[in-house]
Amino acid sequence: MSTPKSKSHAVFLPYPAQGHINPMLKLAKLLHHSKAFHITFINTEFNHNRLLRSRGPNSVRSLPDFRFETIPDGLPQSDQDATQDIPALCEATRRTCPDKLKELILRIEKEDGVPPVTCIVADGAMGFAVYPAKELGLPVFLFFTTSACGFLGYLNYAQLVKRGYTPFKDESFFTNGYLDTPLDWVDGMNNVRLRDLPSFIQTTDPDDIMVNINIKQCEDDAPHATGIILNTFEDLEHDVLHAIRSRLPNTYTVGPISPLVRCIPKSDPIASIGSNLWKEDTGCMEWLDKQVAASVVYVNFGSIAVMTAEQLLEFAWGLAGSMHPFLWVVRADLVQGSNAVLPKEFLEEIEGRGVMVGWCNQEEVLAHRAIGGFLNHCGWNSTIESIYEGVPMICWPFFAEQPTNCKYLCNEWGMGMEIGGNVKRGEVEAMVRELMDGEKGKEMRKRAGEWKDKARAAIMAGGSSYNNLDKLVEQMNQFN
Ligand code: UDP
Repeated sequence: MSTPKSKSHAVFLPYPAQGHINPMLKLAKLLHHSKAFHITFINTEFNHNRLLRSRGPNSVRSLPDFRFETIPDGLPQSDQDATQDIPALCEATRRTCPDKLKELILRIEKEDGVPPVTCIVADGAMGFAVYPAKELGLPVFLFFTTSACGFLGYLNYAQLVKRGYTPFKDESFFTNGYLDTPLDWVDGMNNVRLRDLPSFIQTTDPDDIMVNINIKQCEDDAPHATGIILNTFEDLEHDVLHAIRSRLPNTYTVGPISPLVRCIPKSDPIASIGSNLWKEDTGCMEWLDKQVAASVVYVNFGSIAVMTAEQLLEFAWGLAGSMHPFLWVVRADLVQGSNAVLPKEFLEEIEGRGVMVGWCNQEEVLAHRAIGGFLNHCGWNSTIESIYEGVPMICWPFFAEQPTNCKYLCNEWGMGMEIGGNVKRGEVEAMVRELMDGEKGKEMRKRAGEWKDKARAAIMAGGSSYNNLDKLVEQMNQFN
């Protein structure tokens, strides 16, 4: 009689930032709940402690077959608050985590009740996992938590260097119109300009850390992966995905991933596992309940974007001037180098029609019937969450692949309009009015509604993401 096979065991390694931990945790929960995987989910020690503070011990308490582990991120203790220093964190994780990952896998496999590890699901930004995995004889699936268009932008970095577009010769290239250079040779993208590609290429430094790390991830790490996972769906990024698959054929689109996880019943202990690094305000949901349908502008710039104190004021007075009710997430660290403080006159002016919180449950907010528009930074999670709810957007891209997402939202998907980087209150006011009451806003809402239907179709039984998830799991199970 043959011995029954143990469960497939996937080890998850997210990049230690909110926009990466969220989709990785969701995929882990899905594999555990629907596909019976044993999961080990690795947070950095720093983020593990933040989760304990923001969500309490239950959020990271290990269950028998869904376990949390930690590894150090490699940053010196004194820099631990510098979660926004992306290059430092990327360098530190790349230097420190490969060995730590290997040690951890060898250790947990000796523990009672832990089945042998059968695959690693690493964040694309932790693509170095392919090397320890090779030593351990394990397959790696790389989950790039960006849009497909953003990922394709990164896949073209090596070409941009080779063709001499970057590094820029001097600082004047940021303002002399060079960023508008068309890149008609980029396969899979229409009318794309240099400024539309992920922002790290906008550098004068030939040794730029982010350019080099992204090239490593795309040219060295990704081709060694057994599969690539993206939180998007086929209809949304068809041409881009075609171009990606010409280089990385085993690319699985499984998005939008969030709603799939909402189907996990509350009675399942993994339902209460969450990943918010900030403490959520819940009072804003009660406030939303009292608002008229589709009347509220939701404003949120994600977990990393920062602005100047002047920009904060321009947004504030622009929102106040629009006369629309708004819910604005003002993170304590939203303003570079100081606390995000809004003046008394502004607070008096917006009393009763504007609500500010430090962090919210964004998916619940976006799903609320009161929300009519979303002013944000085009982070990919926020974008795909907004697409799923059919909410049109005003885009203020900050960095990384956000300009690429913005280009697609505005030019390809027809559900976004861009606000200038040098934001002015008059422009904010006019755009919010257009979004909420204008003809363009109406058209954008219609397009957003169409994308919402397509997103929902993708994750229903028989939809492209639903089928791709099955295929992905089938491939993962082959290694058990
Ligand atoms: N988020 C949230 N509450 C907030 C702000 C953000 O739940 O108040 C979540 C949001 O739903 C998304 C993630 O944090 O899943 C932010 O990721 P995104 O890619 O949009 O932006 P990033 O933070 O990476 O810039």
